[in-house]
Amino acid sequence: RQKIYRELRDKPSCTRDGQDVSLYMNAGLAVDLPQLAQSGAEGIGLFRTELQFMVASTFPRAEAQERLYREVLEAADGKPVTFRTIDIGGDKVLPYFKGPQQEENPALGWRAIRLTLDRPGLLRTQIRALLKAAGGRELRLMLPMVTEVSEIQQARAIIDREVRHLSRFAHLLPTELKIGAMIEVPSLLWQLDELMEAVDFVSVGSNDLFQFVTATDRGNTRIADRFDPLSVPFMRILRQIVRAGDAADTPVTLCGELAGRPVSAMALLGIGFRAISMAPASIGPVKAMLTELPLDKLQAVMDEALANHSAKTNIRQTLRQFAATH
Ligand code: PEP
Ligand code: MG
Repeated sequence: RQKIYRELRDKPSCTRDGQDVSLYMNAGLAVDLPQLAQSGAEGIGLFRTELQFMVASTFPRAEAQERLYREVLEAADGKPVTFRTIDIGGDKVLPYFKGPQQEENPALGWRAIRLTLDRPGLLRTQIRALLKAAGGRELRLMLPMVTEVSEIQQARAIIDREVRHLSRFAHLLPTELKIGAMIEVPSLLWQLDELMEAVDFVSVGSNDLFQFVTATDRGNTRIADRFDPLSVPFMRILRQIVRAGDAADTPVTLCGELAGRPVSAMALLGIGFRAISMAPASIGPVKAMLTELPLDKLQAVMDEALANHSAKTNIRQTLRQFAATH
């Protein structure tokens, strides 16, 4: 199989009926970078910048941040990289950084963009390091755990200020700056039109979105298999996001674990996703699936399954049957 994946690596990422699909990889540390060439990914769809903070024993200094970001962009060699601003809090704790109190519900607590908007010094340092590292190149920034569109505007004000600061000191700036948001908190589903207008791209964080939509702790093994992301309600939500993106001409990707399993990746393509990001090891298996996929037919099957929801609907089984007969 490894041999098959290697041979697939340099083939176009395209379905049997000729539709292009972009496969990106998730990463977070310098050790992940060789995977970019090995996997054949089109770029890094999610760079989890908090990992550098989590493996350190104190806050990484601005220089260390800038050095890592530069190394990532150099390794990517012109392929797009989406840097997510630090997503700490929740299940990602920094031993050297204590919140003001123990939280009863850390997943719903002071985390990600909530924390960085309250501690703008942290965000400013990171943004400045990113802007400097990406001088002369495109920079893609993504904000985690956005709940209200206004948070994007607040972050944008901080980003703009750093851009002005660097240009005042004649630093080489990124050639292009794209700002995106993760869709992880359900409240965004009722602000999709405004959200799509406010950003250059969105990426669905299906791990957190599923956790919050189904009220199911993502780390609790007791309930891990209780609800299926390949269920009609969750698929309808994801399809609604794709449609809102298409209507506004805002690119939509998905970078949660769902993208990395061939059957669920199939479901995502069947509801309209054309770009997904996953662990590097998943790229081979997902690409093997999609090059065999008659996507038009699958789309009809998904439409039908999502239109006629009953207790008997089982998307996972439907997809397995589809794969077996095609
Ligand atoms: C997600 O929530 O799906 C996601 C990609 O972010 P993380 O897994 O890092 O929370
Ligand atoms: Mg998340």
